[in-house]
Amino acid sequence: MQRRTSLAAALTGLAGLSLAPFSLALAAPMLQSLKPSTRMPVLFVGHGSPMNAIEDNHWRRSWQSLGVELLKRSERPQMILCISAHWLTRGSWQLTGMAQPRTIHDFGGFPQALFDQQYPAPGAPEVAKALSKELRSPANGGALGIDEREWGLDHGTWSALKPMFPLADIPVVQLSMDYDRAPQDHYLLGQQLQKLRERGVLIVGSGNIVHNLRVTRRGAGQNETYDWAAEFDTVVQDQIKKGQLDALANFQKLGQVARMSHPTHEHYLPLLYAAGAALASEMPRFFNTGFQSASISMRSVVWG
Ligand code: ZN
Repeated sequence: MQRRTSLAAALTGLAGLSLAPFSLALAAPMLQSLKPSTRMPVLFVGHGSPMNAIEDNHWRRSWQSLGVELLKRSERPQMILCISAHWLTRGSWQLTGMAQPRTIHDFGGFPQALFDQQYPAPGAPEVAKALSKELRSPANGGALGIDEREWGLDHGTWSALKPMFPLADIPVVQLSMDYDRAPQDHYLLGQQLQKLRERGVLIVGSGNIVHNLRVTRRGAGQNETYDWAAEFDTVVQDQIKKGQLDALANFQKLGQVARMSHPTHEHYLPLLYAAGAALASEMPRFFNTGFQSASISMRSVVWG
């Protein structure tokens, strides 16, 4: 679902800034280019329910402490590149190219408090433009597209980034997923992201390792799940632990267990970008292991 908002509406998301014309002058200067850095970590975040953005629960507390930990490292990220399960495009890959991406509330049936959430992180249009030429479509070798008006930051991105980096002062660019392409192509594009880690980019894949909304069980504890879900989650965990990252793209070979875990596989694909950007030699660290509503694996991974 897409909605357009005016520039004025987008600006109201800027915390504490009025809409007076001089407001923009107060904003931090726009990120123009990426500088060499120490190697940034890569994250895969299981995001689960949009309510995790505002509920004080186990998942969200992990995001908060991870954010604190990441900001204590010697260098802070210059930019976050997020690949969310919720931005699918067909026939091309797109990068968000807005100076101030809007916060998208791409869900229904939740309390007003969730719709009131804003994540006013700036974009990085110049960097996005440069990356669109530097990264190559695994489908045809062409440049990636730039989206200057349609998308923004969807809840796959902001529900986890807001608890992690509540100041919203690190520029965020989203990369869409060309849903016409095979899983292997998503992994290949993820591999191209590897080099950006040494230019201050924190790569965040946001989806879920198991995601079947047809059989959710409300109120299930985090250790309650289905046999097929536990099996799929364990296979993926083992492949990550052993550094068999390219094997992750072959998840459909698991047959019924994979089909139950992903009736549609958009929530799995962000893992392939994060895994592609990771080095097989890097020791992964898991957090938020467990299930939400029995059929959503919240397992998350940090490499590096
Ligand atoms: Zn989702």
